[in-house]
Amino acid sequence: MFQAPKGTYDVLPRDAERRGILKSHVQRIFGGAGYRRIETPAFESTELFARGVGASTDIVQKEMYSFDDGGGRSMTLRPEGTAPICRAYIEHGMHKLPLPVKFWYLGSFFRAEQPQKGRYRQFWQVGAEAIGAAAPETDAEIIVLLAELLDAMGVKGTRLRLASLGTPETRVEYRDELTGYLHAHESELSDEVRARIDLNPMRAFDSSDRGTQAVMANAPKLLDRLAPDDAEHFDQVKRLLDVAGIRYELDPALVRGLDYYTRTLFEFSSDALGAQSGVGGGGRYDRLIEQLGGQPTPGIGFAAGIERILLAGAEQPIAPDPVDLLVVVADREDRTAAVAGFELAREARQAGLAAQLELTGRSLKSALKHADRINARYVAIVNDQKSATLKEMDSGEQHDLKATGVIATILRGSRLA
Ligand code: AMP
Repeated sequence: MFQAPKGTYDVLPRDAERRGILKSHVQRIFGGAGYRRIETPAFESTELFARGVGASTDIVQKEMYSFDDGGGRSMTLRPEGTAPICRAYIEHGMHKLPLPVKFWYLGSFFRAEQPQKGRYRQFWQVGAEAIGAAAPETDAEIIVLLAELLDAMGVKGTRLRLASLGTPETRVEYRDELTGYLHAHESELSDEVRARIDLNPMRAFDSSDRGTQAVMANAPKLLDRLAPDDAEHFDQVKRLLDVAGIRYELDPALVRGLDYYTRTLFEFSSDALGAQSGVGGGGRYDRLIEQLGGQPTPGIGFAAGIERILLAGAEQPIAPDPVDLLVVVADREDRTAAVAGFELAREARQAGLAAQLELTGRSLKSALKHADRINARYVAIVNDQKSATLKEMDSGEQHDLKATGVIATILRGSRLA
């Protein structure tokens, strides 16, 4: 017996419905704000992620599915969406479009992580990016739109954590200060954190080790070191969120697993989830496009996990798909009647009806039972090439018609008297 690979799962038709609802909310909320859909390939050159996501991140160091494309080039299944979208922005010369260029996307991503509830090796994300806009209003807009989406999906117990990373220059200075502080407390840190002090000191804030946490409680905080214009930018973002009635907590230790962020950083989590409580987050990446070979261009975006939105979201009552008509051929051995039935179902669909053809060879009696089960409004029993019996399932009324009259009768919605 074959099984779906570890860390992957099937989206069965019954699960697909809520994904459809999610997508229509995304289209309404982000489309309404001028964001348009973009989809990039499922794999890209490995170098794009090494450069875009950051060589020292967990994603690049441990979680990428990389392979040789057959021509000696290393490719990687996309672990995230921002670097590919920036690549597309540069490649298609989108800086010539009226700025900002605003995108949303919805697709699957791949990370070689240890699977657990809410964490998969192939998972789905919905995200948005606003490229070419430096104003703090953009940061607040992205956060407000994501909050609206989570709200529309009935995601319960959400918490928003907010921070600012300042500019890379501030971070370099701060990083030196933090590295010095960590070295001064080396003996109190976990082995893992100690080994990475010079590689990625910020990750120490992420540690679950008690001793490390105690050290980090007194560590210098980046929020206290922001340059004046970064601090001003951050103040305006907070002001706008206040006006929008969005509650947030400032989290000086907020760290996300991607290196490209500058200034605003945010993350929504939900109490309704277990250990993997992050629902979605993002931030500003004002240097990324330049880093990937484009002109200096500010940008901000977010990505949210679809599995987690669905786990933490409200079950929505799902209306069964309507079935206007089930076509049943009375005598399947009668080839011309079978053709007439096939044609009737096809023409009914062309006329805008939701029409299905009975395909399993059920007896007439069990076909009528099946019609009840799928909630069909009408059943057309095709007797021969020319004549049919149309039965209205609610009333039980039935009437013999010319096969050509079936569709018109249903469209009129008239009683079959
Ligand atoms: P990130 O791209 O790491 O900032 O992740 C953004 C969101 O994607 C997270 O908050 C999660 O909701 C979701 N996510 C990230 N990695 C996974 C994964 N391995 N499985 C399921 N969801 C994930």
